[in-house]
Amino acid sequence: MSTRLSPHILLSETLVSRSHPALLARPDSLTPQEVANLALFAYVALEGVRAAWGVPLIADRPDLSKPVDGYGVLTSVHRSAELNTAIGGSRTSDHMKGTAADILPPYGLRSTEAARLIIGAGVPHDQVIAYHPHHGGHVHIGWRPSGTNRGQLRAKARDGSYPMDAGALARLDAEWPT
Ligand SMILES: [Zn+2]
Repeated sequence: MSTRLSPHILLSETLVSRSHPALLARPDSLTPQEVANLALFAYVALEGVRAAWGVPLIADRPDLSKPVDGYGVLTSVHRSAELNTAIGGSRTSDHMKGTAADILPPYGLRSTEAARLIIGAGVPHDQVIAYHPHHGGHVHIGWRPSGTNRGQLRAKARDGSYPMDAGALARLDAEWPT
């Protein structure tokens, strides 16, 4: 049985990687600080996203064809340093502290709209980033239990940049119309 981090999120649901499952941290190898970070992150950010989207969040698994009707899919939350390197994550990624998640919105909800719902619901965040909003585009949310949270909303543009001006989401919608 997996440890419960928050009302709707299990520890096992934060240890997910479809591409490199062998590089995931084992639950019993996490430090108390990592588990505490994950629990706070789950309470504040993951429960917040769940409420903002109005759907349960489930862990990615190999047999899932994405996106899933009626569920958000956690595709990456905690990353070991090895996993983060293997998938090309930022060297300072908050995923390695257990305080960031990549979540695929449910079928029919574009990542841009999903990001707007998170902001509109007032979910605390350091960064929310919307990735290409056609089917398969995910939303990254990071929130730090301690330290400064910048409250940024960004869109990963087609040219690889991460603009955060007021028009960034609308431009991303225009770049990926379907
Ligand atoms: Zn991420």
